[in-house]
Amino acid sequence: MEMETTDRVHERIVIKNVLTEQSRIETLAVNAGRSIDQATGAVVAPIYLTTTFERDPDGTYPRGFTYSRTESPNRGQLEACLAALEGGREAIAFSSGLAAAAALIHSLKPGDHIVAPDDVYHGFRKLVDQVFGAWGIQVSFVDFTDPERIAAAVLPSTRLIWAETPSNPLLKITNLAAVAQIARKVGAVSVCDSTFATPVLQQPFEFGIDVVAHSTTKYISGHSDVVGGVLIGRDNNPLLEQARKSQQFAGAVPSPFDCWLTLRGIETLPIRVRAQSDAALRIAGFLQAHPAVEEVYYPGLEDHPGHAIAARQMSGFGGMLSFLVRGSAEAAMQVAGAVKVFTRATSLGGTHSLIEHRASIEGPQTQTPSSLLRLSIGLENILDLIADLDQALGRAIE
Ligand SMILES: *Cc1c(COP(=O)(O)O)cnc(C)c1O
Repeated sequence: MEMETTDRVHERIVIKNVLTEQSRIETLAVNAGRSIDQATGAVVAPIYLTTTFERDPDGTYPRGFTYSRTESPNRGQLEACLAALEGGREAIAFSSGLAAAAALIHSLKPGDHIVAPDDVYHGFRKLVDQVFGAWGIQVSFVDFTDPERIAAAVLPSTRLIWAETPSNPLLKITNLAAVAQIARKVGAVSVCDSTFATPVLQQPFEFGIDVVAHSTTKYISGHSDVVGGVLIGRDNNPLLEQARKSQQFAGAVPSPFDCWLTLRGIETLPIRVRAQSDAALRIAGFLQAHPAVEEVYYPGLEDHPGHAIAARQMSGFGGMLSFLVRGSAEAAMQVAGAVKVFTRATSLGGTHSLIEHRASIEGPQTQTPSSLLRLSIGLENILDLIADLDQALGRAIE
């Protein structure tokens, strides 16, 4: 029996008619993908904890849903909202950010080639080495701050150019228009992992990027309580069609509750991200002036090498920054050990400010300096955050 196509399912997700082409991101964040529940009038969608859906007596599925791996109401709502936020045609939601990346790599053939940043998210490198290593996918890791190096790494077999900006944890900035242009010239698909920026601060499709990837675990869900990922396509493209098949037939899908929580978090995404970005800029300034700090990596600082591109390409510099503690790895560990308001934990983008010694979580292959600490700025009062860093850094000078 022929299943309904996903497009038909999406047509059934009623997008509130308050939305127009001109709706701004705060309005989309609250309304896109949502509808009033037809059965009860509930303003907030129920969590559809069902694996399966009833057929009509004639054997058809008139409501568009058959089985919750292939499509589910909560996932459809989340995908409609994410596509609207990014200004894309279609979003494909996964059970993690790396599952989203894996689905895109799944769509390649043995021998196909990827160009990726040398400081790409460390999990991406593990994915291509340890999961796809035996599949014959070729990957070149190069410095993405220099478009000439990206262009020089391209081969006739290059199918995917994977950018990540700002990057993790050095906050390097990639020129997205240059990446899109290089990809177009060789017929490759350009991807931007926009997790650090979010659609609030950066809209990669404006620069010609084909696919946007996010770990929705971070800012998009925003409360450190759900793991997820998404791929969003600007237009139709064959790699994304394959990624949809990977979602539906390989099945790394988010649960209805995951989708509901993520959509709930998105309502405040624009407000959270702007507040976190403003606070991070002030904290970067504070750290830069501190005698126990050797260097600060934040694209909002005028002496950051990517500042000019970030200022053009983003509407704020984001809530993430890193810095080097003067002295050794031990001094950095000591600072991390002394914070009281910041929480020592990995991950980012939630309401709690986090501090992390990156090199020790990334493992022995890491390129990250051993005295680097990464901060994810949350929603606490900025004065409390600065006072906390000040007292912790004070220990390092003692
Ligand atoms: C966390 C993260 C990922 C991976 O996402 P998961 O949801 O942890 O699988 C990918 N890219 C960036 C930039 C990240 O921060």
